[in-house]
Amino acid sequence: MKQEESAIIKKSDIVLLVAILVIALITFVYIMLTKKPGAKVQISIDGKVEKTISLDEDYEYQVTTDMGNNRIVIKDGVVDVTAADCPDKVCENHVTIKNVGETIICLPHKLVVEIVE
Ligand SMILES: [Zn+2]
Repeated sequence: MKQEESAIIKKSDIVLLVAILVIALITFVYIMLTKKPGAKVQISIDGKVEKTISLDEDYEYQVTTDMGNNRIVIKDGVVDVTAADCPDKVCENHVTIKNVGETIICLPHKLVVEIVE
């Protein structure tokens, strides 16, 4: 009896495992397909492109100009300004961005962080 029980559990375990694998695979493929390949973060200061960084890699970039400091963090494909010493803190309080065309702008520092293709 014990053996029968464990056999039943094993069979349902396999079904469950296969289901999880299939779901994981579908999720993975979905993420790969919907993720815009090669998206980059373009950091511009006073209208000039200062740096372009791939969204694929985690990266931290410190912007230091005469106007002030901004810390830009790229992690898991999203971009965030985590620290800034501007008076309005609009950039620091901005939600993270990840889609092409989205921007975080720091007016006092003339800083534009934009997702580009
Ligand atoms: Zn700011």
